[in-house]
Amino acid sequence: MIRLYNTAIRQKETFEPLLPGRISMYTCGPTVYNFPHIGNWRTFLFEDLLRRTFELLGYKVTQVMNLTDVEDKIIRASMEQSVSIEEITAPFIEAFFKDLDILRVERAEHYPRATGHIPQMIALIETLLAKGYAYKLDGSVYYAIDKFPRYGRLSRIKASEDRSYSRLVEDEYEKEQITDFALWKAAKEGEPAWPSPFGRGRPGWHIECSAMSMAYLGTTFDIHTGGIDNMFPHHENEIAQSEGATGETFARIWLHSNHLMVDGQRMAKSIGNFYTLGDLLAQGFSPPAIRFLLLSTHYRNTLNFTLEGLRQAERSVERLQDFYHRLQEYTPPVIVGMEPAKEGILEGIRSHDLEFKHALADDLNISGALSATYGLMHEVNPLLLDGRLVADEAEAALAALRDFDRVLVILEEKEQSEDWILEGIEDRRAAREKKDFASADRIRRELEEKGILLEDGPQSTRWRRKI
Ligand code: AMP
Ligand code: ZN
Repeated sequence: MIRLYNTAIRQKETFEPLLPGRISMYTCGPTVYNFPHIGNWRTFLFEDLLRRTFELLGYKVTQVMNLTDVEDKIIRASMEQSVSIEEITAPFIEAFFKDLDILRVERAEHYPRATGHIPQMIALIETLLAKGYAYKLDGSVYYAIDKFPRYGRLSRIKASEDRSYSRLVEDEYEKEQITDFALWKAAKEGEPAWPSPFGRGRPGWHIECSAMSMAYLGTTFDIHTGGIDNMFPHHENEIAQSEGATGETFARIWLHSNHLMVDGQRMAKSIGNFYTLGDLLAQGFSPPAIRFLLLSTHYRNTLNFTLEGLRQAERSVERLQDFYHRLQEYTPPVIVGMEPAKEGILEGIRSHDLEFKHALADDLNISGALSATYGLMHEVNPLLLDGRLVADEAEAALAALRDFDRVLVILEEKEQSEDWILEGIEDRRAAREKKDFASADRIRRELEEKGILLEDGPQSTRWRRKI
């Protein structure tokens, strides 16, 4: 049984996906006008923990993460530097995927870009206009908040009594102020713009997540996640847009992660108190330690970032890696008919394994999961050091630890994890040599589904990750 804390009702509830065995989730992605900082990565790692937990529990996940590649700040930068918005965003998109791989974040199934989905956004705005949820003004289109009585329900922000709202054109606003917001912004001199039935312009920020989530996951899907700062107004606006247009429930459950803090303040680009992944790697910290630190505090609590905390994470990861390597290299004693050193080791291993899964199934209780991991280590390590673990027990312990690492992903070196790609390429080469093109095509497709594209050169086949 999976229980998740649904922000919409401010409590945990039992979670059953819409389709048995399959989970659809939408995760608000980065605005690609800057390098992501580790606060952003905390949110993306929470989403990675979520999807990896579902997979560990046997579900198939379809995850969509948008890339916001048209937005006020991007447009400002493109005008200031007199280059196209693609030129502004391309290096940051590349950097995002590079960090994602370094932190071993599992790829989502889809990374749609806002600029690639303008027609879907226009169609949604047209529906909202037709249904009376939106109005045109001076070449722009706004959402009329007073037409959607449920507005404010997610964030529990009260609408004003007289229900007359001011209008806001900026993409983001942090004050708890309810305003009609822009769905489509009339083109200004020199700004990038797209043609539309409402005139040339560009979409507001919020409409992209409504349009792209519904395009890939349908009008109703299981889970919507994001950092807590996205709850208002962004997610509130997404609900108003989507449910206004379809009349159906948008996301069935909302999960929000809390912030990474520095000295009591949220880590933010605007405050300037941030570290990028590159900053920390340059100081010699390892990717698994950074991943571990960002995951090891429950997602609904704030996490105060310190370098000392990161050093401790480094030590914890090293201890777990040592244990893992010792277990991998362990040769059980070959004394025929040897009695187990201690009764109940196998049961103990099994109970740690269950404890790990139960903890994560309970709203991603990472402390419980880590205590199961340490429990396994403390139980097995002394026997390992004394050479008293029999083969079955060593195998079971290794299998449990590998299971844990499907979610934690801190034990294996990155290079090893790419073996599967190289194996796939080799198997395909062998199949082609035997003229078994059906198998060769299947292998190529399977790799592509996992985000790996193959390019055949005259001598060899190269691979790259699909962006
Ligand atoms: P942005 O690129 O600014 O759109 O942010 C991408 C994601 O990072 C959003 O889901 C934000 O909520 C999240 N985020 C931004 N700052 C922090 C922080 N200090 N801690 C955790 N998540 C954050
Ligand atoms: Zn979003």
